[in-house]
Amino acid sequence: MKAITEREAIKVITTHYIDGAFVESHGREVMNIIRPTDGQVIGSVTLADEEDTRRAIAAAKRAFATYGRSTTDERAQILRRLHAAASARRDDLTAAMVDEYGGVIQFAGLIVDSGISAFQAAEKALQEIPWRRSWDKTTVTLEPVGVAGLITAWNANALFLCLKIASAVAAGCTVVIKPSELSSIQTQVLVEALHEAKLPKGLLNVVTGLGNVVGAELVRNPDVAKISFTGSVAVGEQIMRDGAATMKRMTLELGGKSPTVLLDDAALDKAIPAALTMAFMNSGQACAAGTRLLVPMSRLDEVKRAILDTMRAFTVGDPADPNIAVGPMVSQKQYERVESYIRKGIEEGAEVLVGGEGRPEGLEAGYFVKPTVFVSVKNDMTIAREEIFGPVLSVIAYDSEDEAIRIANDSKYGLHAAVLGTDIQRARRVASQLRAGRVVINGMTDDPQAPWGGFKYSGVGREYGRYGIEAFLEPKAVLE
Ligand code: NAD
Repeated sequence: MKAITEREAIKVITTHYIDGAFVESHGREVMNIIRPTDGQVIGSVTLADEEDTRRAIAAAKRAFATYGRSTTDERAQILRRLHAAASARRDDLTAAMVDEYGGVIQFAGLIVDSGISAFQAAEKALQEIPWRRSWDKTTVTLEPVGVAGLITAWNANALFLCLKIASAVAAGCTVVIKPSELSSIQTQVLVEALHEAKLPKGLLNVVTGLGNVVGAELVRNPDVAKISFTGSVAVGEQIMRDGAATMKRMTLELGGKSPTVLLDDAALDKAIPAALTMAFMNSGQACAAGTRLLVPMSRLDEVKRAILDTMRAFTVGDPADPNIAVGPMVSQKQYERVESYIRKGIEEGAEVLVGGEGRPEGLEAGYFVKPTVFVSVKNDMTIAREEIFGPVLSVIAYDSEDEAIRIANDSKYGLHAAVLGTDIQRARRVASQLRAGRVVINGMTDDPQAPWGGFKYSGVGREYGRYGIEAFLEPKAVLE
């Protein structure tokens, strides 16, 4: 169990990245970085304060005066440099995600690769945007919105940061990033990598600190035009309220409680592994995780047997081991949150088919939970309504296709959904009736040009490809 037993040198981070250089933190508060596999301190980070944040915003504002007028060719060239710089540190980025976050290596590699490819995807999308359109005596151009504040969660650091940087840079914006303080080492590796892209000074600034200090300053500062946020609904709501005072443009990527609709013609040998992969990807700490599995009553017993069989492959343990599917939760707090939901499910009368409360045997040191599948779940139970953000799946039975669609849509969330079935026309018909920003048919898949974002409480606006770039643009008309 390499990541659990090995002791590496402590990593000490005392700098932020402002105006093209690593500068010592003005903020003095120091936070320990804890490894989730064993609860050991593996580093420390000096957290930024408001003064660090204002310096970063000022640098981004100065840089915007020039970069805001850059051509699309110049931006494409910068995106290519960013892609090369991030690619060069691909393995270091993956290793940091495994060590600091506890991401399983088979998934961490995919996350890092998606982050790196975001630069290429943005370069492609850039070519497709109609930057200038004219008719009669009217000309419409798409202008960068200004300095953008990018605030992110901890569960896929490289992806969130690369994706947001790529879209903002493609649009002609300069950025100040406030990554999750739980991703400090991963951020440091990425920023060291991107420093090698030799960007214009002040285009990219990164200040690691607390949400209510650095994040709050970005949200209230009048020199920041736009916030692109990935995180919880509660913080998203606060950002939207506080940002109104300076009329911030907003993209909010929030939570989910995604349904997977298993149709009665599904081939279970493929459908159940696909459903469980969607439920337990990234150890269940995924906004898009398919945590409600809707199953026809007529096939419930068969499905339960298939789940019991397939769960043998969803082993929990050392995230550095390529055979492991589920790693630890990111922190003690997240461990307790997931355990409290498992307890709640049992109290509310759901039946534990697999897993349950407590740490898995032999993994008592870190923040490991048992991957858990509940059956006999009703859609009004807490475990079916609230986002748990851990490896907990609720199986809900339905009687008809209409009822399945009604249950799937009966959620405050609408980020992601899945349909599993053999008749593709029927699967498409069901998909067309699901209220979610993305619906996948017959398994998790991705397309970096397809929009990503939520209906309802799952958020506001979209990321990825052309949609993601447009979120950083303002149309401007000149009439003669
Ligand atoms: P969080 O909302 O607690 O924190 C997200 C970020 O916001 C962090 O960087 C945090 O420091 C910052 N923050 C906290 N308070 C702030 C404030 N007052 N002002 C400005 N910034 C503030 O979320 P988390 O625990 O880091 O991440 C888990 C959540 O993120 C889950 O709800 C998950 O669904 C969501 N998420 C959504 C997506 C998506 O694409 N829709 C992707 C990943 C995670």
